[in-house]
Amino acid sequence: MNELTIAAMLRRAVQCSPDREIVSRNADGSLHRTTWAGIDARSRRLASALLGLGLSPGARVATLCVSHHRHLELYFAAPLAGLVLHPLNHRLHDDDIAYIATHAGDEVLVVDEAFLPLVERIRDRTPLRHVVVVAENPDPADGYEGFLAGGDPAWQPGDLDEHAVALVAFTSGTTGRPKGVEVTHRAIALHALSTSLPGYLGMRDTDVVLPVVPMFHALAWGWPYTAALLGATLVLPGNRLDPAGLLELIDGERVTLTGGVPTVWLGVLRTLDADPGAFDVSSLRMVLSGGSTAPPAMIDGFARRHGVPLVHTWGMTELLMGAVAELSADLLDADAEEQHRYRLTQGRPMPLTEIQARTDAGGLAPWDGHTPGELEIRGPWVAGSYLDAPEASAERWTGDGWFRTGDIVTIAPGGYLEITDRAKDVVKSGGEWISTPALESALMAHPAVAEAAVIGVADDRWGERPLAVVAAHCGSVVTAAELREFLGGRVARFWIPERVEFVASVPKTAVGKFDKVALRRDHVVGDGAGTHGAGT
Ligand code: ADP
Repeated sequence: MNELTIAAMLRRAVQCSPDREIVSRNADGSLHRTTWAGIDARSRRLASALLGLGLSPGARVATLCVSHHRHLELYFAAPLAGLVLHPLNHRLHDDDIAYIATHAGDEVLVVDEAFLPLVERIRDRTPLRHVVVVAENPDPADGYEGFLAGGDPAWQPGDLDEHAVALVAFTSGTTGRPKGVEVTHRAIALHALSTSLPGYLGMRDTDVVLPVVPMFHALAWGWPYTAALLGATLVLPGNRLDPAGLLELIDGERVTLTGGVPTVWLGVLRTLDADPGAFDVSSLRMVLSGGSTAPPAMIDGFARRHGVPLVHTWGMTELLMGAVAELSADLLDADAEEQHRYRLTQGRPMPLTEIQARTDAGGLAPWDGHTPGELEIRGPWVAGSYLDAPEASAERWTGDGWFRTGDIVTIAPGGYLEITDRAKDVVKSGGEWISTPALESALMAHPAVAEAAVIGVADDRWGERPLAVVAAHCGSVVTAAELREFLGGRVARFWIPERVEFVASVPKTAVGKFDKVALRRDHVVGDGAGTHGAGT
């Protein structure tokens, strides 16, 4: 029997930290409180209820839920039952959600009542056989609660293979259709062990952990499992990720460790700055910021004005947390300026993973802090391929196990990686991807549009926003407002560009592709003024 399993991680929580709390915000704003012992009991019962549906081993159980305690139960129940949990991201466009659910082969869906209209729109296009609804005011005899009550309270997991798939997560971070990765029990266990070490998260049972990164996105960086392994208290924010909503939880629950995307922390910083006395954030020992570059002024602002250490982290759906910018021993005596410079990097890779940067010439960049190359990474929890996508997999994995991240980095002595550019043609807005080719196709579907190219421009609030450069057909006239209206319903709301610029023709490279370098040079001047989009 293998022991690097999610069942073993939950057993550890219930045996050694049964009374540590799981605090979860309900849809009405009230707080629900349970313990690891409570999560264990309900997860096992839920696992037996899921098996009662007659699913085959490895069947996919999807969720469309915000971060709450019932979602946490599913994080354990499905893998404990030998099934595979697949959190779906409700922020995506219907077509993408339908595609992802179909590609993953989702048979069961547990859905928050708030997302039911979405499910009704896509259900016919998916293989879903069972839909279980988490009501806002749950009735014990009905919906999710009734389903769970039908399970056997004495059910215990059988032997699990640590190499079995426990989870599926999708990323739309590259061109083409969204791609899925399968995550094994073993990957989750080793990820939790490594990321929780001192010098990285340094998580322990005294921590009160608030994952702001949603449970439907990049598996909340694996934190629900890491918290179980260490017996930490877990605080789940429900449907409120706004600054005041988060600060209330941080203050009220004395949160010590939290993590999310820079857009969230920028909002929190603004709220703290506006009224420094309104919330007590002195319990925070570490705020992780990842998913996009953390602006230096934000890291400074948290440290200087509020005494909060904001730590930069780098990750990807394909590997969850990849690096953390905690200072290594040799930097502890360095002057403040040098320490600051290293804190701005994306950090050092987790123990047991290895990184390298491949230059344009095909060699490996020296770790000198200034030679750029595409970051490659390998390690026990780095995915080995995309789900049923051999061509995309062959592009991203080298024969000898290195995963090509698409991030252009320099690596400094000590392994500090710094992202300088991106090889992938995408825009990341508020922590969520916008596929530029897909947005270009949507724009070019408009009868008046001959050519449309999309580039990312820096944005104060969202990190990046898309800018569309459009050439109309000869004799046709179209306005930015008409194009925005046309895109509504065709792409996710946050994809719709605020800025549309019209040109006679879009510049091309020698091979006839849109010349994004020229477009950036010609159109990016004057951005960063803080155009705020629909966002995420
Ligand atoms: P996540 O949801 O964790 O952000 P994704 O797979 O959606 O994962 O995105 C991963 C990509 O996000 C990385 O390849 C990189 O381009 C970008 N990214 C992640 N963290 C950072 C960071 N700290 N700074 C800059 N870019 C980042």
